[in-house]
Amino acid sequence: MQPSFIFAVHILIRIFKTIVNMRSFYTLLFLVLTVTSFGQGKKSYQYKVDLTEVKDDKLFVELKTPVIGKDEITFYLPKIIPGTYAIADYGRYVSDLKAYDKKGNELAVEKINDNGWKIKGAKQLQKISYWIDDTFDTKKEGKEVFWPAGTNFEDKKDFIINEAGFFGYFDGMKDLPFQFSIIRQKDFYGSTGLIAQRTGDPLPKVSVEKKETSDKLVDVYQVENYDRLIDSPLLYAKADTAIIKVGNAEVLIGSYSPNQKITAKQIAENVKEVLQAQRQYLGGKLPVDKYAFMFYWTDQPVTNYGALEHSYSSVYYMPEQTIEQTAQQLRDFAAHEFFHIVTPLTIHSEEIQFFDFNDPKMSKHLWLYEGVTEYFAGNVQVKYGLITKEQYLNVLRQKMLTADDFRDDVPFTDISKFTLEKYSDQYYNVYQKGALIGMCLDIKLRKLSNGKYGLQNLIFDLSKKYGKAHAFKDDELFDQITKLTYPEIGIFLNTYVGGTEKLPLDEVFSLVGVKHIGEQKKSEPSIGVDQKSITVEEYNGKPSLVIKDPTVMNEQGKALAFAAGDILVKMNGETLPDLGPALGQFIQAQQKALVVGGTISYGVLRKNEAGERKEVELKATIVNVEKSVRHIVEFDSNATPEQLATQKAWLTPN
Ligand SMILES: [Zn+2]
Repeated sequence: MQPSFIFAVHILIRIFKTIVNMRSFYTLLFLVLTVTSFGQGKKSYQYKVDLTEVKDDKLFVELKTPVIGKDEITFYLPKIIPGTYAIADYGRYVSDLKAYDKKGNELAVEKINDNGWKIKGAKQLQKISYWIDDTFDTKKEGKEVFWPAGTNFEDKKDFIINEAGFFGYFDGMKDLPFQFSIIRQKDFYGSTGLIAQRTGDPLPKVSVEKKETSDKLVDVYQVENYDRLIDSPLLYAKADTAIIKVGNAEVLIGSYSPNQKITAKQIAENVKEVLQAQRQYLGGKLPVDKYAFMFYWTDQPVTNYGALEHSYSSVYYMPEQTIEQTAQQLRDFAAHEFFHIVTPLTIHSEEIQFFDFNDPKMSKHLWLYEGVTEYFAGNVQVKYGLITKEQYLNVLRQKMLTADDFRDDVPFTDISKFTLEKYSDQYYNVYQKGALIGMCLDIKLRKLSNGKYGLQNLIFDLSKKYGKAHAFKDDELFDQITKLTYPEIGIFLNTYVGGTEKLPLDEVFSLVGVKHIGEQKKSEPSIGVDQKSITVEEYNGKPSLVIKDPTVMNEQGKALAFAAGDILVKMNGETLPDLGPALGQFIQAQQKALVVGGTISYGVLRKNEAGERKEVELKATIVNVEKSVRHIVEFDSNATPEQLATQKAWLTPN
């Protein structure tokens, strides 16, 4: 997974998206569809959902249940799914759940918590049905579902099917086959990493109406168990797809861009090179034959967005932009998710192998699953010339800067183990400090092996040793890595990952001829507002930047005389873009244009005595503000041949 938090506001912010109620769907004809493949499955789950029948932004789900051998059983939707590291409670989006016996009589159902329904007389159970809301448009109590793990129904436009929000399982029975039938419009296409059992079957004749139903087709999928079901999302929309061949693998790109700003073909062109480089980075052969990238581009304001990996696919929820605007971030995201085909998908602990969807246990090794993955996503790009050495140092610098905002006094293994509980606010650091741990290990390994063995080799050896089917024990991983490498690596892991020591950045960078200065004072102009003094609140149905506390501002901010509650609307006469990547770019450009002695101005909406918001202009002369510049990194022009040799092993193909 890779979330992105804009404008460095990595406090958790609720998204304020206009709820679009799709009340436009009215139909007088309720067609009774009888799909022949939807018979009783004794030892399998058989689901059916009709995407052409959206009602009030809800879909109807039907399940022919497997035979239940007990009088009472609990039906669950997941509390959490692999790769997300946050509670989702998908059951919150289910309503009107009913259970029926063979004769169509209702059985007693008791809701036991957000995600569970106890069914009485379960030996007689034959069918369950319920309605589902989508997570994108439905405000619920509690945390929002991470968007790429969510569901979206937009009638006749697109459907994001993350099965966790669609289909459930019976307690103790998640290892049976699951079949699901998706009824769709003729001109829709389902992008997925799954291989359909049958696709585009016409629906059987309708029994009660003479109406033509030829505009509906059905796709049938089958998977071996619930884990694989949840691992296999789909994006249904009018076809916008492209295919890239990456070595032995066929890679599908499926895209839905509501305003056609970006196409699958452009995405394919943009990520092709990095995927080819990744194949080489992984030793030439990929562990998958088919892979799907599914892109959903939103035209709504966003405060966070991101992507989620699966074994044969990944799902992206990103602000709709042109290919030029999103190119680098798109490559970074795609590279990150694609590298997950190695960790945790082929190297993982028992906690992940035997994932409990309703009572999850977390592993201590997020530094490996997310950190190393993120490190590789950057390192592959410099190694194969997609970014320069200097750009790469800046990538690492940004990680050091962001990591400074998180706790550094707890073992990283604890942050990981308790990421659902006491350290949930520290999770984002797995992409920062986690990646820096990866860098330290890589450089140390290259140094110890005279350039011959790096983190790539270690990960390759670990995936040979374990692979998809064999999990490691959380507590044994450091010892296993030490056995495969050097005693110094064991000491590093126990001191800096399992211990509380700060990463030895100066020392590690010096091994590759890079000077690292932790902190330096510098005077320069400032925009006055910063992360500490602002927050995000809803105004006019949109997330907006609001002054939280002007007293913590620097001299420039104080000179502007902001008041708590001011809503920022303009800067130097220009209107602020909606929250999203464009806002970050806008602010960077404003910062760059500041000249000491000139004037800085803001337009803010401030409440007057009558309680109405009126625009007020705030102005001040631009002054130099002393601030500390942290983590300055640069290549040492006096590096020794030894340092340069290790640097070469670190930054060029091996
Ligand atoms: Zn990830």
